[in-house]
Amino acid sequence: MFTKRNLYRFLLILIIGLFVLLQVIDLINPDLFHSIKIVSNIASVVSIVAIGFLYFLVKEFDKKADEYTINQKKMKNIFDTLDVAIWSHDLKSDTLLITPGIEKLYGYKLDKFYENMNLWKEVIYPEDLSVLKDREKKLAVGETATSQYRIIRPDGEVRWIQDRGIPTFDQKGDFVDFTSVLFDITDRKESEGLYQSLVEMSPDIIAVVYDGKIEYINEAGCKLLGAQSQEQVIGQSAKNFVPSHITDLIKRKVFSPDKLENERLRLEFQVRRTDGESIDVEMAARSILYEGRFAIQVVGRDITQRKKSEQTIKFMAYYDSLTGLPNRNQFRNHLNEVLRHQQNKMHAVLFLDLDRFKIINDTKGHSIGDIILQLVAGRLEKAVQNEGLVSRQGGDEFIIVLEDADKENTSQVAKRILNEFSNPFEVNCEEFYVTPSIGISIYPTDGSDEETLIKNADTAMYQAKERGKNNYQFYSTNLDGISTWKMKLENWLRRALEQNQMTLHYQPQLDLRTGEIVGVEALIRWNHPEYGYVAPSEFIPLAEETGLIVPLGKWILREACERRKAWRDSGFSDFPIAVNVSVRQFQDEHFIPFISGMLEEIGLEANYLELEITESLMQNLENSTIILNQLKDLGVLLSVDDFGTGYSSLSYLKHLPIDKIKIDKSFVDDIIYHSNQGMMVKTIIDMGMNLKFGVIAEGIETEEQVKFLTRNACQIGQGYYYSKPLSAEKLEEFLVKGNVSIE
Ligand code: C2E
Ligand code: MG
Ligand code: MG
Repeated sequence: MFTKRNLYRFLLILIIGLFVLLQVIDLINPDLFHSIKIVSNIASVVSIVAIGFLYFLVKEFDKKADEYTINQKKMKNIFDTLDVAIWSHDLKSDTLLITPGIEKLYGYKLDKFYENMNLWKEVIYPEDLSVLKDREKKLAVGETATSQYRIIRPDGEVRWIQDRGIPTFDQKGDFVDFTSVLFDITDRKESEGLYQSLVEMSPDIIAVVYDGKIEYINEAGCKLLGAQSQEQVIGQSAKNFVPSHITDLIKRKVFSPDKLENERLRLEFQVRRTDGESIDVEMAARSILYEGRFAIQVVGRDITQRKKSEQTIKFMAYYDSLTGLPNRNQFRNHLNEVLRHQQNKMHAVLFLDLDRFKIINDTKGHSIGDIILQLVAGRLEKAVQNEGLVSRQGGDEFIIVLEDADKENTSQVAKRILNEFSNPFEVNCEEFYVTPSIGISIYPTDGSDEETLIKNADTAMYQAKERGKNNYQFYSTNLDGISTWKMKLENWLRRALEQNQMTLHYQPQLDLRTGEIVGVEALIRWNHPEYGYVAPSEFIPLAEETGLIVPLGKWILREACERRKAWRDSGFSDFPIAVNVSVRQFQDEHFIPFISGMLEEIGLEANYLELEITESLMQNLENSTIILNQLKDLGVLLSVDDFGTGYSSLSYLKHLPIDKIKIDKSFVDDIIYHSNQGMMVKTIIDMGMNLKFGVIAEGIETEEQVKFLTRNACQIGQGYYYSKPLSAEKLEEFLVKGNVSIE
């Protein structure tokens, strides 16, 4: 090509040539230039200067050319490393220039694009072809058009391309040149896609608010607001959902233009849903750049459930969940407040325990018990009115504080309470008579602090129980012993088993006609090292109340069965051993497996064991039937103790797998002492025999009773008349001799 650089080279060579020619001619014929020696010398000098100058120019040009080549190379390297390609089409000369970067982007060789000018279009993902229409429209009017589409590379890989097309028009308005810059934006698109799906699928609420309006909200956000679709929410004022003091606060804190660094705000507030309901949310807000503008992004979640749990926890800390009454904590706080702020007035503490409630709870089941407690709470509040605070301490115990109340006012309230309980509680069409025993202590006479006042009211309550229940008693110092005794007994009881203070005595049961031993009842005996003999009637109810009857009962059963096994091994093989079982033991889910496991371990057949249950068990007939049947399946014998004193009628029993009924001592006593002269005993014997139960009379003390019973076909009897309960050794004597010397 004829460039400036080549011209200078040519001139340089020409002048050098001329100069050399001149020198040669001068050498061959020195006279030729003699006349024009000066001219020739000048020409030589000019030539040398020109050569020097031209040489300099040529060198400069060479340097620039090298720099250009280096730069070109650099550019190429840059283009090669960038995921970019340039496509330039001079429409006038129809020359196409494509940078090699296109190979990297499209995966096709560069010459393929020269061979097929439509190749770039043919590889576009079919679904994205529509974007080209938009692009063509823009290019036709001379606008730069940026489009994004996917292409499929020869190896099947799909890549995202961003294509920026720049059209050039000449002065006449003809389209003369077109350049397109192509980028691979797959990575960006992928992270955008990932971000988008994270936002859209997030279980948290994500929304963007601009100028007070919701610009974007994800699906979780819509659901939270109770909207069917995003359209229902987008464009709406945020204030339609969020309280305005919150939107103002966010705007002030997060979106203040004078703030260099935006705060991230965390808030908890209530959101109004489209259905008008309110829900609790926890939100974080910060400012973000959204579509080129500063907007507020909020991320949050529904915490209604958490708030409810928090409230419940708070409620549980101060209120009784069953009755809704203040609990022990709240009561203590309240009483302390009253004592602190009203020191110069009199106040009353009423300790209230329900009579017979435990029996109902144990026999009728906890759900009935719970309903009764709720009804009790209502009646107490009604009786106390606004004169005090009613609280539940747990179980069937309630404490009431009456502020500014002397003995007189307190008596009135106590009477009102007793009056409220004069009517039965009706649950599931059944009536329950529950009465309270109330103990009262008065501040400051009966105590100056919360603890003493409660303790003394409790003591007075025991006094009320002693005095026949359903009454109230004021505390007096001579009552002190009662509650301490109960507490002492409980403590002793806890240690009695470990310290081997318990033994079993055995009372024989005899055939009334033949005098033959047909059974033995095991009865617990407690000999306390300091106190001496403690009667079962005193500690068994306490053991039931405290649950200690469960371990104690297991010990009794095992002890009795082991003893029976020993007697069987000694040849006394034809009668069972009767063991008393409390309702509480039946409620223990391990009772049945315990019995079967224990019998197996000891090696005693089940029909050697007879369980004495009480009628109170029949109160929960459904559950008891299941358990009794399971026991029957094991082969254990079942008898109903103290029959006639409880709730059941014989008609109940006919559906149960009962073997025997034991007529209570009080009816046997009637035979000789009462005017009806044993009518009840007679009736029970008749009905029992009709239902094919064995009938046994308890507490026989006289011959007259024996005669009456045999006359009326009662088969078996037990009582002091024959024998008191005996130690194991003494009973063995009895078994051998048929009687025993009584100490
Ligand atoms: P229960 O099962 O009805 O036992 C009969 C009670 O009457 C026994 O009193 C017995 O000593 C007494 N007794 C027997 N014959 C006569 C008599 O002719 N006259 C008089 N006055 N009393 C007689 P104990 O041993 O004091 O037991 C009282 C109650 O304590 C028992 O009544 C029973 O309900 C309970 N009990 C006793 N031992 C146990 C036990 O091992 N487990 C359970 N859960 N309760 C027991
Ligand atoms: Mg008994
Ligand atoms: Mg009995």
